[in-house]
Amino acid sequence: MTKMPALFIGHGSPMNALESNVYSRAWRKLGQTLPRPRALLVISAHWFIGVTAVTAMKRPRTIHDFQGFPPRLFAVDYPAPGLPELAQEVAEVVKPHRVDLDHDQWGLDHGAWSVLAHLYPAADIPVVQLSINARKPLAYHLELGAALSALRENGVMIVSSGNVVHNLRLLDWSSPEGGSDWAHRFDDAVATLMTDRPGAVLAATEHADFPVAVPTPDHFIPLLYTAGLAAAEGVCAEALVRGYAMDSLSMSCYGVGMNGIAREQAVR
Ligand code: ZN
Repeated sequence: MTKMPALFIGHGSPMNALESNVYSRAWRKLGQTLPRPRALLVISAHWFIGVTAVTAMKRPRTIHDFQGFPPRLFAVDYPAPGLPELAQEVAEVVKPHRVDLDHDQWGLDHGAWSVLAHLYPAADIPVVQLSINARKPLAYHLELGAALSALRENGVMIVSSGNVVHNLRLLDWSSPEGGSDWAHRFDDAVATLMTDRPGAVLAATEHADFPVAVPTPDHFIPLLYTAGLAAAEGVCAEALVRGYAMDSLSMSCYGVGMNGIAREQAVR
């Protein structure tokens, strides 16, 4: 079986699920060049809970975990099947870390489906979500990412979905592709780490702009899974998309093991 690439996608607004814009078009184009995996393992910023859990149901529901968006966004369904045996594989491969099997609590949240709707619009590839354990230190997530890398040999594409820069208090809705100076500085510093020394990505937490770029860790942590698995294999990530949204989000995306699949699409 082909070794699957791993991705980090900067997902931005839930509306990207429905809109055709520079970012959603970039994801769609990326999806058309990616191999077809046996299954997708998604680490979304939006399943941020007190344990490490993995969805283990056969039919994960589509969760509309947001407020104040139009009814057509609440009508989105991403009916991809689950894959209970992959949930078991995840629990095995990360031992001695503990992973709980979730049979009836979660499903697919918009961090997963807003991106997958473009990468794999047919929704016919099984999807399993892994929660982000909010109680663990950042280094734990790098370690877990490293442990998950073995799944890539087994036809699993690991897709992390968050945003390198994510400050909702400073959003400017009138600036769809804009990025503040501090957002550029922090995103550029992270890009240098990811493409040169992914194992040192936590150095970004010392950056002067870290507190404003990452006021809460939920959207930053998915990147640590991608960095961790790259570091475990002694390879670097490559930038797939670079860009900003609404001044205070970075839409940067990274790939590991792309083998020339996609080139950087700069968006400013
Ligand atoms: Zn989000």
